[in-house]
Amino acid sequence: MTRVGVLTGDGIGAEIVPAAVAVADAAAQAEDLAFEWVDLPFGRNAIETHGDPVPDETLRALDDLDLWVLGPHDSAGYPPQHSGRTPGAVIRTRYDLFANLRPARAFHGVRATAPSIDVLIVRENSEGFYADRNMFAGSGEFMPTPDVALAVGMISRPACERIARVAFEAARARASRVTIVHKANVLRMTTGLFRDVCREVAAEHPDVVVDEQHVDAMAAHLVRRPGDFDVIVTENLFGDILSDLAGELAGSLGIAASVNCSDTKVMAQAAHGAAPDIAGRGLANPVAMILSTAMALRRHGTASADGALVATAGRMEAAVADTLAESIATADLGGTATTQAFTDAVVARI
Ligand code: ATP
Ligand code: MG
Repeated sequence: MTRVGVLTGDGIGAEIVPAAVAVADAAAQAEDLAFEWVDLPFGRNAIETHGDPVPDETLRALDDLDLWVLGPHDSAGYPPQHSGRTPGAVIRTRYDLFANLRPARAFHGVRATAPSIDVLIVRENSEGFYADRNMFAGSGEFMPTPDVALAVGMISRPACERIARVAFEAARARASRVTIVHKANVLRMTTGLFRDVCREVAAEHPDVVVDEQHVDAMAAHLVRRPGDFDVIVTENLFGDILSDLAGELAGSLGIAASVNCSDTKVMAQAAHGAAPDIAGRGLANPVAMILSTAMALRRHGTASADGALVATAGRMEAAVADTLAESIATADLGGTATTQAFTDAVVARI
């Protein structure tokens, strides 16, 4: 029995997380597998019941889990005493989930600006220019006077090395091409170090074809010739921006899967937020959450040589693709299906 943590979170989490669980259960049943879902308090409800959006009880449980599903959080709306680090960042940092893997590929039945896109963005998730993830003095930003703000970016050799390894290993299971994205013509030391270390790791993977792009050129190339790229490895901020771009080129952020992982733990987390504007109305698109869950199961299954778990993930992905191909979709994709109706259609196809 595979134990999987479930952190439902805020907004549409109460709709899309159960959808992902239902689809995973159906796919597992078809493989003679069963999941033990471990519900853990997280988000706004946890503030009410435990006084903390990420209670100690939840963290202690995650210590013993390899795999969990994280719903969205709407932390911008939390009471001021909980307005520090976002709940997602607390978990990412504690378990050093240094790799954010975000695939983008178009689906039949979903109108895409770039139907030929099929990329995996491998985003360094622990440092770079993002203040709340920065090890420098607790925060990478400060204001020496009220009219001047400074930000510190941090790039370290070990962090570059481990993310590059994830990218090159992932490429071997795909089209064996990696594009190193940096801005070393301007940010010479920081993104220059990132590029140099990626080149060193590339040298250990002679079977993988490597090229390099400046991040601004990369954005242009992704739009102009999306089909030419396979794995894209980059630092935190660039990866954040490029993965939203790639997700939209592939159709919609509402279908964009992502996982955050270390070498031992993997967390499914949809690329979109809590969407409070549509929460509780049956309008939410569960695809990103379902596909993120499948991706986490696949990664864990591969790491633990559990073929049935990998097959379970494959069934989930195929059933989502089949459903979308039949033009069954939620309102954000132009369809009329509710969250429940879409989920039922996916389960029926399993
Ligand atoms: P965050 O800061 O948490 O990333 P955000 O400001 O990026 O939040 P989202 O919560 O992602 O915002 O929502 C942006 C828009 O996309 C909203 O109009 C929301 O309703 C819509 N949206 C997001 N996710 C979905 C989904 N799964 N299904 C349908 N619509 C969605
Ligand atoms: Mg957002």
